[in-house]
Amino acid sequence: MTMESNFWLTTTSMPTASPGDLPSHVDVIIVGAGFTGLSAAHALAKRGTTVAVLEANTIGWGASSRNGGMVLTGLKLSAETLAKRYGLDLTRRMYATSLESIDLVEQLVREENIDCSFSRCGHLEVACKQSHFDAYARSVEVIAREFNHQLRIIPQNQLGGEIGSGIYFGGIVDETSAGVNPAQYVSGLASAALRAGACVYENARVQNIQRSSQNGSAGFSVLTSRGSVFAQNLLVATSGYTSAATPALQKKIIPIGSFIIATEPLAPDLARELSPRNRMIFDSKHYLHYYRLTPDNRMLFGGRAAFFPETKNTIHRSAEILRRDLIEVYPQLRDTKIEHAWGGTLDFCFDTMPHAGQAQGIYYALGYAGHGVAIATYLGTKLAEVMSGVKTDIPYAVIPFPGAPFGLYNGKPWFLPIAGAYYKVLDWVS
Ligand SMILES: Cc1cc2nc3c(=O)[nH]c(=O)nc-3n(C[C@H](O)[C@H](O)[C@H](O)COP(=O)(O)OP(=O)(O)OC[C@H]3O[C@@H](n4cnc5c(N)ncnc54)[C@H](O)[C@@H]3O)c2cc1C
Repeated sequence: MTMESNFWLTTTSMPTASPGDLPSHVDVIIVGAGFTGLSAAHALAKRGTTVAVLEANTIGWGASSRNGGMVLTGLKLSAETLAKRYGLDLTRRMYATSLESIDLVEQLVREENIDCSFSRCGHLEVACKQSHFDAYARSVEVIAREFNHQLRIIPQNQLGGEIGSGIYFGGIVDETSAGVNPAQYVSGLASAALRAGACVYENARVQNIQRSSQNGSAGFSVLTSRGSVFAQNLLVATSGYTSAATPALQKKIIPIGSFIIATEPLAPDLARELSPRNRMIFDSKHYLHYYRLTPDNRMLFGGRAAFFPETKNTIHRSAEILRRDLIEVYPQLRDTKIEHAWGGTLDFCFDTMPHAGQAQGIYYALGYAGHGVAIATYLGTKLAEVMSGVKTDIPYAVIPFPGAPFGLYNGKPWFLPIAGAYYKVLDWVS
């Protein structure tokens, strides 16, 4: 097995970043060159705004090139949970954004000619217990009635048409969801932003942000590892990699590892047997597995095998656990070679919700909790509209953005082993 090797990155290269030194002044600085930052940069540059994207590593280095490429409807939390917490009106607006965000990805892919295997293949959620399957009926009914969106229940005796595994109790299909090659998509977004006139600087780690003014206009002075830049507006788009450069946000984000393995390419017949409709598949557990075929027929299988973010150690350990779990789902793959294993960091907020808005003058969008391919693109684009003075409804900007209970968190997630154990127990009992 090739450890620490992201399969997606073998399928593409990232565009060349902007040459030369950092400018001394731009209209907008964006911190982070992933889906959020690059979609914002693209939308701003198209409006004629001068933009510098400052990326600590390289274009697409973060979760945006490492994920499962599942472009999913809905949010991380169920519609029922959202409605209980925020009321029906706000939940309707949130659910609508989850659908609009997939349309937006599709539109960007089409308009910018991004070759990234985007396909509306639909998703399949599979029930690990009878009780999980029993709850699907109510969920589907609520989503149809309140959000006018149709899902389809697949009883256990028809599941064979959707998945070549015998361990599940039934499923739900949503035909609206899509799949994408995420590294090709983030590379294409970066190219589109650069073509539109945005500048993207690599190895430019933001170290410090100060309010200041230049030539009578208020803004931010941003110190990076490559020098300083001033801008009127600043967007933080650092997701699970949010650091002490933005301490107030760092205290609200819990970085959690998620890991993926990919097999060697499978024979077409075997691939069709495992996933007859080529869906984006995930199961109903808290410690969930997500899996799909890649465009070249590998089985890509992911999960939160270790809770801590990616290191050589956590990737190695996770790869072993994921291989074991993969064979439980698909015994047909017992002798199949695993060729790739990698990890990335998810950004969970304490309420498991995305948040986008402005605090102390700084714009931010994060908290995608492993459900960010579409909504990160959407929120980056929406915040670009806001910064351009367009009146825009962002439901995630009006909900409370909680920090840790009793303030017991400084950005170092000491409680992850406890949380990991808690969710494992929850999966046994619920
Ligand atoms: C293994 C894995 C699987 C996933 N699977 C899915 C999936 O199938 N479907 C789905 O919808 N979502 C999935 N996600 C989540 C999704 O990938 C993310 O929500 C999304 O990519 C977030 O994009 P982003 O642009 O906000 O952040 P990122 O892509 O993480 O980019 C943040 C960038 O900020 C940079 N940065 C951080 N600090 C600084 C600094 N101080 N200065 C400059 N730059 C800085 C980092 O280097 C990084 O490149 C998955 C995530 C992971 C890790």
